[in-house]
Amino acid sequence: MSKIITLNSNNVKKSLETRELLHKKLVEVGFNVDYEYNPQAELIISIGGDGCFLQTVRDYNIPNIPLVGINTGHLGFFPDISPDNIDSFIKSYLEKDYIIQELPLIQTKVITSKGSCDIFGINEAVIKGDNSRTIHLKLNINNKHVQNFSGDGLIVSTSAGSTAYNYAVGGSIVDTSLNVIQVAPISPINTNAYRCFTSSIICSHDSLVNICPECEFENSTLVVVDGLQYNFNEIDNIRLSISDRKIKLLRTSSYEFWSRVCEKFL
Ligand code: NAP
Ligand code: MN
Repeated sequence: MSKIITLNSNNVKKSLETRELLHKKLVEVGFNVDYEYNPQAELIISIGGDGCFLQTVRDYNIPNIPLVGINTGHLGFFPDISPDNIDSFIKSYLEKDYIIQELPLIQTKVITSKGSCDIFGINEAVIKGDNSRTIHLKLNINNKHVQNFSGDGLIVSTSAGSTAYNYAVGGSIVDTSLNVIQVAPISPINTNAYRCFTSSIICSHDSLVNICPECEFENSTLVVVDGLQYNFNEIDNIRLSISDRKIKLLRTSSYEFWSRVCEKFL
């Protein structure tokens, strides 16, 4: 029986062209190709940018199957392969010349008066107010009250997400080989009325970060995970932690975190 590879692309012309070309080349070397999630597949290839990669993981319900990205997008921090290097990618894949990077997910447990809901993310969970309002949140870490936050919101990110929204608000870039949780404030207010930390803080991977909206915000707090917004009513508190669930990201054997950072950011 032939081995199966699943291809998932966004609808950008370059991605669709790349998908067609890749399909042809994979069939030539003996693979079966699917455009939908197939639990029998040995590899999932996402064709697009980071957004498409995040969407693939979401659409396929956090697959256990290794993923690799071909970057036809803008930045492409997750997708490792350029569309110009498809041939060398297929060759390395067949020769098993690659590494698998395991990326732990951030779990966001939203507790409301009606029950609880778990959302898993690769980059981050953002807790913010609706309608561009200032939000007031109580921040606890490991059951210790750290601070009352006032401002636009808090970003709770994984190391893999440290280069995304976290970095844009002045958070630190963290090597993905370190498994930590980073909490970064978005436009924190620092006046005689409100005080909160102005830098991001970094906690160990086994920390429990608890964010509790002050009572008038229990119906107007937004939870945005990897760019997708979730609305809840009567939020009591939001618990964030590093989950046991991981994705397996296939990287070329030359992949090195800091070279990637220089290439993409500096
Ligand atoms: P998007 O608006 O296209 O994303 C904004 C940018 O973030 C894109 O250039 C995207 O890369 C890049 N990106 C995503 N994950 C990254 C990572 N781990 N490291 C470095 N850059 C990364 O929306 P999207 O593509 O659906 O991505 C969702 C993410 O956007 C969220 O998880 C959040 O981190 C980020 N975001 C950033 C800001 C900000 O910087 N002010 C605001 C909202 C959301 P591609 O161009 O390859 O897609
Ligand atoms: Mn994008």
